[in-house]
Amino acid sequence: MTDAPVIVWFRQDLRLADNPALVAAIATGEPVLPVYILAYQDGRVPGGASRWWLDRSLATLDIALQEHGARLILRTGDAADTLAAVLRETGAGAVFWNRCYEPAAIARDKRIKAMLQAAGIDAQSFNAALLHEPWTVKTQQGQPYKVFTPFWRAIRALPKGAVLPSIPKSLPSPAAWPGSETLADWALKPAKPDWTRGLRDAWQPGECGAKERLNAFIDDTLADYRTGRDRPDFVGTSRLSPHLHFGEIGPRQIWHAITTHAAASDGTDSAAESFLRELGWREFTHHLLYHWPDLPDVNWKRSFDGFPWRDDAMGLAAWQRGLTGYPIVDAGMRELWQIGWMHNRVRMIAASFLIKDLLIDWRIGEKWFWDTLVDADLAQNAASWQWVAGSGADAAPFFRVFNPVLQGQKFDPDGTYVRRFVPELAKLPTEHIHAPWEAPAPVLDRAGIALGATYPKPIVDHKRARERALAAYQALSSGD
Ligand code: FAD
Repeated sequence: MTDAPVIVWFRQDLRLADNPALVAAIATGEPVLPVYILAYQDGRVPGGASRWWLDRSLATLDIALQEHGARLILRTGDAADTLAAVLRETGAGAVFWNRCYEPAAIARDKRIKAMLQAAGIDAQSFNAALLHEPWTVKTQQGQPYKVFTPFWRAIRALPKGAVLPSIPKSLPSPAAWPGSETLADWALKPAKPDWTRGLRDAWQPGECGAKERLNAFIDDTLADYRTGRDRPDFVGTSRLSPHLHFGEIGPRQIWHAITTHAAASDGTDSAAESFLRELGWREFTHHLLYHWPDLPDVNWKRSFDGFPWRDDAMGLAAWQRGLTGYPIVDAGMRELWQIGWMHNRVRMIAASFLIKDLLIDWRIGEKWFWDTLVDADLAQNAASWQWVAGSGADAAPFFRVFNPVLQGQKFDPDGTYVRRFVPELAKLPTEHIHAPWEAPAPVLDRAGIALGATYPKPIVDHKRARERALAAYQALSSGD
C-alpha cells in the first residue's frame, strides 16, 4: 500500500452496487477518490430532461458516498486535463472507470488510457453497463449481427456475469479531499421557468429509486408483462429505462433479479422471458452503434439516402406540441413533455406519424426525443428511430404505417391514456375518443369540444398521407 488514492471516475454508472470499477478500487486497499467530470465536449450535449436527471442522480450518489465516509468530487472541463489536474493535486496513482460505448466516449477513453499509462498511472476499465460487450458477440463468420433474433439467441445462451458483492460500509478515504465544484454551480436544473414539476412527480432518480422500481415491477407488473407491455393506459412495463441509461442499476442486477424470481415462482417464466428479450434489444442497439458508429446520423440502409423528406415546420411544431389532431399521438407527445418519458408502443406510433404521415426525416424526430426524454440514449434512440423509419437494421418495413386510430383503439381501448394527457377530450365517449372528427356534432357539443378551437382537426388525412408515403417509398425503391 502506498496511500496514493485510486480515482474512480464515475460516468454512466451512477451507483455503488455492482460497480466493478469501484469494487476494483476498493480491492487495492488504497484510498478511494470518486470523481465526476462534466465534459460536454465528449459527444452530444444532453437534453434538458437528461440534465435534470443527471443533477438529481449525482446528488443522490454523493449522499450514498457520504454514507460510506466518502464524497463525490465534481469538476468541469476536458476529461483528460481534469483527470491530470486531480492526479497532480492528490498524488493519486490510478484511475479506474466503467466503459461507455458511444463513439465519442470510446475515442476519448482510448486517448486517456494511453495518456495515463504513458505517465505511469494505473488505468483500468470495466464493464458495468452491458450484459455482453459489443466486440464479444459475433456471428459464426466473425461478423457483427445485423438481425435481432439470431443475436438474441446467441446472447441468451451465454453465461451472464455474477452480481458483485456489496461494498464495505466505510470506504478508505484520502488524507485530504481535493476541491469540488457544486451541483448548483452547474445549473443543470432549469430555474426560470422551472418546467420539471411533472418530472419530479413521476421519477425518483438515483440508485434507491432504481431498486424500488425493479422491486415494484417484479411484485406488481412482471406477471402480466407479455400483454401489459403494449398498454400505455396502465403501468405495464418496468420504467427502468432512465435508471439503466444513467447506470443507477445495471443489466446484470436486473437479469439476475428477474431470473431468480422466475425460477422461484410459477407461471411467470414466459413473462420473464419476454422482459429479458427487451433487455436483449437494449444490448442489440448498443451492438449496432458500436459497429456502425454513424447510426445516429446516417441511414443504416444507404438506399434511404435519397428519400424525399418534406420540410414541414408547421407539421413538426404540431407534432412536438401534441397538437396533430390524432389523440394517441398527441397524448404520447404530451406525456413526453410532462414526464420526459413515453410508452414504447406510443413512441412507435408517434415516430411513425412524424416519419410516414408527415414525411419528416427521422433524424429530426430523433433529436427531439434526445432533447426531451429522461432516458435519451444515443444507441437506443437512434436504432429505434431507424427501426420505425425502415432504414435501420432488422427494421420494420417502411410500408408498415401505423394507423393512429386503430392503434389507439387497440392499445388504449377505454381512452384512459388519451384522457389523462389530452384533458380537453376527457368527456368524449370512448367510441369517439380516438377519432373525435368522426363524432356527431351534438356529441362534441356535450363533451365541450369545438374542433379546430379547443382541439385541432387532424393536420393530415391519415389515409392520404399513407398513400403519399408509400408512393414516395415506391419512387425511391424503383429509382424514379
Ligand atoms: P421495459 O418494457 O420495462 O423494458 C426494460 C428495458 O429494456 C428498458 O428499460 C430498456 O432499457 C430496454 N428496452 C425496452 N424496449 C426496448 C426497445 N424497443 N429497444 C431498445 N431497448 C429496449 N429507449 C431508451 O432507453 N432510450 C431512448 O432514447 C429510446 N428511444 C426510443 C425511440 C423510439 C422512436 C422508440 C420506438 C423506442 C425508443 N426506446 C428508447 C425504446 C423503448 O421505448 C424504451 O426503452 C422503453 O419504452 C422504456 O420503458 P421501460 O423501461 O418501461 O421498458
